[in-house]
Amino acid sequence: MPRGTIRTILALGFLGGLAGGLIRAVASLTSQKHLSLGRLRLAWITLVDGLDKGILRGLAAALVLIAAGAVVRFVWKKAVAPYWQLELRTVKSPAAFRVFRGPLSRIRHAAASFVRSVTGPSSGIPRIPLALGWIFLAMTVAVPILERIAPPRGPNVLLVVADALRPDHLGCYGSTAGLSPNIDRAAADSLVFNRAMSSAPWTKPSVGSLMTSLYPREHGAYFFYDILPPSVLTLAEAFRDKGYATIGIQKNGCLSPGYGFEQGFEAYVDTTRDSEADMLRILERRIKRAGRRPFFAYIHYMNTHVPYTSGETIDSKFTPGSDTGIDIRILTRLGLSDGDKDRIRGFYGKAVAAFDGHFGAILAMLRERGIEDDTVVVLTSDHGEELWDHGDFEHCHTLYNELLHVPLLVRAPSKLPARRVSAWVQHLDLYPFLLGLAGIDGSEGIRGRDFLPDLSAQAFPENREFFFEGLLYGPARTAILRGDWKLIDNQGETSPKALTLLGPMTPYWPAPNRPPFELYDLGADPKELRNVAETHPDIVRDLKRRLDLFKSSGFGVPTASSRKLSKEEKDKLRSLGYFK
Ligand SMILES: [Zn+2]
Repeated sequence: MPRGTIRTILALGFLGGLAGGLIRAVASLTSQKHLSLGRLRLAWITLVDGLDKGILRGLAAALVLIAAGAVVRFVWKKAVAPYWQLELRTVKSPAAFRVFRGPLSRIRHAAASFVRSVTGPSSGIPRIPLALGWIFLAMTVAVPILERIAPPRGPNVLLVVADALRPDHLGCYGSTAGLSPNIDRAAADSLVFNRAMSSAPWTKPSVGSLMTSLYPREHGAYFFYDILPPSVLTLAEAFRDKGYATIGIQKNGCLSPGYGFEQGFEAYVDTTRDSEADMLRILERRIKRAGRRPFFAYIHYMNTHVPYTSGETIDSKFTPGSDTGIDIRILTRLGLSDGDKDRIRGFYGKAVAAFDGHFGAILAMLRERGIEDDTVVVLTSDHGEELWDHGDFEHCHTLYNELLHVPLLVRAPSKLPARRVSAWVQHLDLYPFLLGLAGIDGSEGIRGRDFLPDLSAQAFPENREFFFEGLLYGPARTAILRGDWKLIDNQGETSPKALTLLGPMTPYWPAPNRPPFELYDLGADPKELRNVAETHPDIVRDLKRRLDLFKSSGFGVPTASSRKLSKEEKDKLRSLGYFK
């Protein structure tokens, strides 16, 4: 193929990719609120990402075209032309194609002159677009270099999520089973939240809330195939905006790349097929690669999610075809005895112990690298797990506390004191809290409340309201918690998305009929065994009104739901040992 043609195709690929990337980047920018929040750096990163991807794709398409042309030419020369005694020249410009020659040669001419303008001194291209192109390329190279030379200041933040981990199986939450020595040791010098809640009873809506500080109906990742939209500003994006290295390593299929949870992560590694040892290796490698930049890392484990992988052999009765975990489809057909259920609870416990080992390994790695004191470690789960507390098994299906109550430890010995916190908090609150620790203001357009000022004042707001939603199966139940009163509204409609997702799995979650409203006094009845809705109609009415307001989006998204710290408050926090 003549060199001129190759150059033309490459130039066309570059220009096409640049145009495609620009369209993509502008579409992405206009759908996000980053600009309106003044996140100019993040907008720039998004623009560069879109352009880079577009250019790469355009060039890749051009290379494929060139390679395909070479193959066609080769085959023609070696196989077709000799057989038919034809010359390539004779079919090169059949009369029918001649009409295209004019426009084609003009495009070719423009592209070739663009190539010359980039590679050589003489240029047929206007100078301004060319200069902008060079500035763009220079900044793309310069920004990461500048970040390395002058990295932002702030602690590392490591968010560890153990899928479906119940707090009551951990020693630091009162278990005597001895399953969690590493977590318990960490808890001894952590902030430990006794009453932390997720927003939803399964992964996608819950992690969506954790990452955006919005409720599921607000961030939009509600059902199985939903995507977290680019318009939300995720925790990773906010950290990246500050110049943090952002690392995501996760093992849950419904968070795989493409579902939108990768937003803001420089590296978002899908480890659904990797071992926990591999996850740790990847984490360490990425931390090394961050160099002098502080990092925000999110690592999501699956041991305590069915099939409860602990590395130990499980009774073959529960695991046809596999000895590494229980098979949930089989369980539901077995007609389990109480003994069987205890055995399965035992496997869950072993999975908790297995996760505890992995958590210990993370802390050991931080210690060995000498960054334990500079790293805020958060341990939580995305939701709990039902082990027949209300007659069912697994998660996704109800809004009882065995599915919403989560462990929450924040370990930062050099920054935060070790303390027990008994106020209700929700995953949504981690967003402003963690950003605040890194000196980033993340209070705009979120639901959460930074609990650091409340901690230092030793006064949490009373009667704060928390909402819960996002079931995968059955009717769209919702719940509200205020003080110790929790109202569950069982009257939601059943979305077609809710039923058809897992096909044959769905019928095995019976989600039995419940009364329209359930009211629990969590102070007196933390396991939600006595529905007192009938004896407290006034409380039901009041909470139902607030819940309806939430569902009708009457609240809107508040612009600032947590207080900002004044300088005096910050000084006070420092004197109390909350900040260094
Ligand atoms: Zn989960």
